[in-house]
This record gives sequence, C-alpha cells and structure tokens, in this order.
Amino acid sequence: MRYSRIPDETIRRLPIYLRGLILASEQGQKNISSNDLAEYVGIYPWQIRKDFSYFGDFGTRGVGYNVGKLEREIKRILKINISQKAALVGVGNLGMAILAFPGFGIYGLDIAAAFDINPKKIGRNVKGVTIENISKLGTIKRRKIKLAVMAVPRKAAQETADELVKAGVRGILNFSPCYLLVPNTVKVITIDIAMDMASLPYYMPAS
Ligand code: ATP
Repeated sequence: MRYSRIPDETIRRLPIYLRGLILASEQGQKNISSNDLAEYVGIYPWQIRKDFSYFGDFGTRGVGYNVGKLEREIKRILKINISQKAALVGVGNLGMAILAFPGFGIYGLDIAAAFDINPKKIGRNVKGVTIENISKLGTIKRRKIKLAVMAVPRKAAQETADELVKAGVRGILNFSPCYLLVPNTVKVITIDIAMDMASLPYYMPAS
C-alpha cells in the first residue's frame, strides 16, 4: 500500500513517534494514549491523532494505541521494517563520528560502506567498515545500497551527489553546507549544524 497524500511534515514526525514508542515499550507499556505519547515526544495530542489518521485508525477508544503494533506500522510506512544500507562519502572528522555513531541501529539503518579520496584513509577499518577509494563508488549499485550520507567539503559536494545519483542512490543525508541539485526522484535532507545554530542567539534574552 502506498500513502501518496501524506504531508512531508507528517513523515518527518514519524521517526519522533517511533522514538517515543520505543521508550514507552522499554518501560513496559503495552498500550498508549495520544496524550501519553504527547508527553514522550513533545507534540500536541491532536497533531498525533491527525498524523495517525492518514494511515487508518490504529487506536481503540479508551485503550489507546497498541505500542508494538504502532511501532511496526510506522517502521513499515518508513520502509525501515527491513534493514536499509547506506554509504558514507567523506570520512573526515564529521564522517568518522557518523561512522562511529551507534544511534542508526534503532531505525534499522546500517552504514555498510564508506568512501574517501585521501589515500591515507583508504583501507582503514572503522567500526567494521573498511574505507574504500571513491573511485569504487559505482559498486554500491550491485551492493543494493540506495541511501547515502555525504560529509565531503562543499567544493566536492555537487560532484559527489552526481556520482551517487549515477550509482542509483535515492536518498541523501547531506552534511555539506550547500544546496544540491538532484533529479526529483532523489530525496535530499541537508543538515548544516552551524546554520541551525545560527538562529539560536535570536532567542536569547537581551542582557
Ligand atoms: P570534516 O570534519 O568536515 O570531516 P575535515 O577537515 O576532516 O573536516 P574535509 O576537508 O571537510 O575534512 O573533508 C572531509 C573528508 O572528505 C576528508 O576525509 C576528505 O579526504 C574527503 N573528501 C574530500 N573530497 C572528496 C571527494 N571528492 N570524494 C570523497 N571524499 C572526499
């Protein structure tokens, strides 16, 4: 089943709900109301109910949602019910931290390959992943890797994105501080930590 009319904002909140449900399940909760889930995730209960209404009705009045069932359903919608492999390009300071980060696992994400241009880095093994020469990027197609994380410098970003698209990648998490041009069949999410932080001082009280 495809859910074609789901707003992007709803899709972006699904991993937040998933994190809340995993927490609730760890605490032994079998059922959860939208009010309780709201406390775990900091999203209004009406918003949660509205988001879930796009996928049919999971809840039972007076009982709430079945935690396990909802967790499985959200994973299925996000297509992370099966493990999804990703390739990392650029194993500098940031790339190294991404490779060592254990948090992808709960979402079924597996950084299965890493590539760099620097000969000193190629061949090194980080957390079970051997850094490969960027010239081998094309091999990800037959390795069925359709997701990528980019942590290359800005000047290499567009070229890297083009190569990833050529290699069949359909989703890119981009840490390079720039906008990437890709076909509309490819989804890019850009995370620019410095840019995100730049809006924070605005909210500081005047001293
Ligand atoms: P950062 O903390 O951002 O990773 P850094 O100083 O470690 O910074 P950068 O110059 O930002 O390094 O480069 C990040 C990584 O990307 C480096 O390991 C570099 O060798 C690699 N890199 C640079 N150009 C390319 C490219 N075209 N393809 C693949 N990897 C590249």
